[in-house]
Amino acid sequence: MNVKKVKEKLSRPWVAVNLLLLIVFLAMVTVHIKVEPVNLDELLSIGNDVDSKNLCDSPECITLSHELLNYQDPSVDPCVDFFQHSCGRFHEQSVSESRLQKKKHILRKQIREFLHKIQNSTSKSENLMKLVFDKCEASKKTSNDNYKISRDAIHDVFNDIKKIGAWPLLDKNWDGSKFDLNEMLSNLVKLGATNLGLFQLDFRILTEGKFVRIAPTLGSIVHNSTMISMISEILEANGVQPDSEEISKEFEEYSSLQMKLAKYQSSGKLSISLPGVRSINFSSLITEMIHPSRVSKIFGKIRVVTSEHPLFFKSNETESDVRREFPRASLRVFMRNFVDKGNRDGVKKLTEELKKNTLEMIQDTENLAPPVKESMLKKVEAIKVTIGYPDHFDPPGTLDKEFENFDLDSTDSYYRIFQKLNRLRSEQQMEFIAGETPISPIKEVLKVNANYKRSKNALTVFAPFLDDPFFDITYPDYVNLFFSGFLIAHEIGHSVDANGLGYDENGKPMDGIRLEHVTEYGKQGQCLVDQYDNYDDPVYGKKMNGTHSINEIIADWVGHEVTWRAYKKMDTSKMLSLIGLKDINMDQLYFRVQSLLFCRERDTISLEETLKDVYPTDNFRVNGAYARVCGGVQLSGYITYESGEEV
Ligand SMILES: [Zn+2]
Repeated sequence: MNVKKVKEKLSRPWVAVNLLLLIVFLAMVTVHIKVEPVNLDELLSIGNDVDSKNLCDSPECITLSHELLNYQDPSVDPCVDFFQHSCGRFHEQSVSESRLQKKKHILRKQIREFLHKIQNSTSKSENLMKLVFDKCEASKKTSNDNYKISRDAIHDVFNDIKKIGAWPLLDKNWDGSKFDLNEMLSNLVKLGATNLGLFQLDFRILTEGKFVRIAPTLGSIVHNSTMISMISEILEANGVQPDSEEISKEFEEYSSLQMKLAKYQSSGKLSISLPGVRSINFSSLITEMIHPSRVSKIFGKIRVVTSEHPLFFKSNETESDVRREFPRASLRVFMRNFVDKGNRDGVKKLTEELKKNTLEMIQDTENLAPPVKESMLKKVEAIKVTIGYPDHFDPPGTLDKEFENFDLDSTDSYYRIFQKLNRLRSEQQMEFIAGETPISPIKEVLKVNANYKRSKNALTVFAPFLDDPFFDITYPDYVNLFFSGFLIAHEIGHSVDANGLGYDENGKPMDGIRLEHVTEYGKQGQCLVDQYDNYDDPVYGKKMNGTHSINEIIADWVGHEVTWRAYKKMDTSKMLSLIGLKDINMDQLYFRVQSLLFCRERDTISLEETLKDVYPTDNFRVNGAYARVCGGVQLSGYITYESGEEV
């Protein structure tokens, strides 16, 4: 888009009320408000005159100024190509492909460095992480072969095999009639195993709640020959002469049983009951997964579902690393050591403000049918917000308390450590299923991300987002609003995107507001789809799919609209300015700072891959969003948000 076109389009008003009209596809009347064109030269010439004592000179602000000044390509006219103007020299300045990637690398390094340095911490979880980390490092140095068992582990594995039950290979006088399947399975569970060969126990979150699931096992990926040599090695090291012929024979039987089992296909459905297999005591297996001291407290709260599989129900057919192991402890390390304490509260406050502005925006939308408006307001109002981690973990010591029943010893073998961790994870899963803790122990909590879950009407801002370069208490408030505010408002936007609309404030599907209405009322929505369909991307050309990306486009739109609203209410006159940016006025800074979120190297992935992604290209997320002309709605770079102000 060139300046002339921009000026022409300025005579068309940007009507904020049309935003939701588009989103809900229930527009009845289009409101047109005439707005006087804004003089481009006048706007571009406004500078923010500041003296040096009003500059934000925290390291975080200086880094931000550095990014704004060095990623830009001032030779490109912002009215012609805003993306290139803001991000044109990103590739020369950053070794990461995007700012998000950069944060991910730094996060990994922060935890790694922390684990190297930590000595005799007063925190139990930190000491446990350190111990596991050192073991991992040591084992990495001794062997690169994943299937090779370390010397000290061989003994532990052997002892565990004996613990599980008698084994014909070890015991020449093995008596099949004395074999107790339940006892063996129960011993396996005690060790922390959840895949029990014949079936597995895992965990499912369904709309009805959280459940332990009994399901068929997934096929083993370890090749027989690898297993055979592993078993031989263990036997030999423990003084038993392996009979390779017998081992092979047993393996053949094992393989044929596996093949037999694989023939029975699951219906994919789940049944809220225990399997109809009387020979296995499933309840006692489930009890074994709970820490013994907690059985009486939580067993009654555990619910079970079973895969509708012929194995369990009779049918007509007849018969990484440390971070992954310690997600919550890593979270604790990150929050305690790398995130400023005020940041979490700051983001909390910001989120509330954005919610309020979203509600206002819906309220101001004149063309919504009253019941629709009401249901949308109710929904946004009810969004459950989690910032960084659930409040449950806020009291000091809560995360450490999770490890009070858990001990590792520095003499433990690598095998023993992971066996104990598996056991701990089962116990923590059971606490989660019983509703005693708010997040699953396997949930990755250190994502550089924020998300909105439709089924729960819940917004989560993950901890790494509470940190620079997205949020920082030393940033002037407007910077935090432009960055984090946009990302959070984008997620709120998903509650009212084309999919989100069909769900109520509790995440239940609703009749009434459905996508079917798109064809009838979706003229405006169609305009957004068309805009991306016709977008001439500098890398891929006019090959984009607006229908596929419509939800992300809508979410971005809400993100811009809501942050713009909040910004316009903000008194920025007393806030610190950014170093080296005195030639850019506050409105311009809004666009420049937000574009930084999308600065990245030139896309190198194929068109096919790009089209699979639900996100529009980063180029579109800047240039498309700022130059949007849809039935009277126009956001255009430096200029048109000005006219939005008058609506
Ligand atoms: Zn999104």
